[in-house]
Amino acid sequence: MSDINKLFIVSGPSGVGKGTLVRQVLARVPDLYLSVSMTTRQPREGEIAGVNYNFATEEDFKKFIEDDSFLEWARVHNKYYYGTPFKPVQNALKQGQSVILEIDVQGAMQVKERVPKSVLIFVVPPSIEVLRERLRERKTESEEDIESRLRTAAYELDHLKKYDYVVVNDILENAVEELVGIIKKETA
Ligand code: 5GP
Repeated sequence: MSDINKLFIVSGPSGVGKGTLVRQVLARVPDLYLSVSMTTRQPREGEIAGVNYNFATEEDFKKFIEDDSFLEWARVHNKYYYGTPFKPVQNALKQGQSVILEIDVQGAMQVKERVPKSVLIFVVPPSIEVLRERLRERKTESEEDIESRLRTAAYELDHLKKYDYVVVNDILENAVEELVGIIKKETA
C-alpha cells in the first residue's frame, strides 16, 4: 500500500474511451478504488447495475442530493443526472487506497474545490472527427445525442487548462501507460 493515497479524476469527452482506459489502468495498479457513480440515464446494452453505474430514478437521485450524500453531482448533456456517492470514496481513502473518479468537467471542478489535493487528468481524442466516428461506431446514441455530446465536448475542451495532466487517447496502450505513470508518480 502506498503512503500517499490520492483522489484521481479522469474527465474527457463522451466517446474518448475513458471507460476502457480506466479499466486497463485498474488491472495494472493495485489498491486503486473505482467509484461507481449514480445516474438517472437508462443502462446501455451490456452495462451492469452496481458495476458500471448505480441506475436511479430522478426521485431517488434528488433524495441523495437533499441528504447531502454526493461528493459532487451534475446534470450532464442537459439531460441526465450523474453523481459520486460520498461514503464509498471516503471509506476507500480512509483505508489508504487511492480513488479514481470518471466524471465530467462540472463535477471535477466541484471535487477540486472540496479536495484541493485531488489530481485532475483530462483525456482528449486525437481530433473531433475521430470522436464523432467513435460515437457513431458505438451505435448507442442517436444522431441528435451524438451532436449534443459533441457540443458538450467543445465546452469541456475549453476547461483543459484547469487540469493537471492531459492524455491523448490515440493508441490505447500508450494512453494506459501514460495514465499508470501519472498515478505512480503522484503516489510515490
Ligand atoms: P455516459 O452517459 O456516456 O456514461 O457518461 C456521460 C458523462 O457523464 C461522461 O462525461 C462521464 O464522465 C460523466 N459522468 C459519469 N459519472 C459521473 C458522475 O458521477 N459525476 C459527474 N459529474 N459526471 C459523471
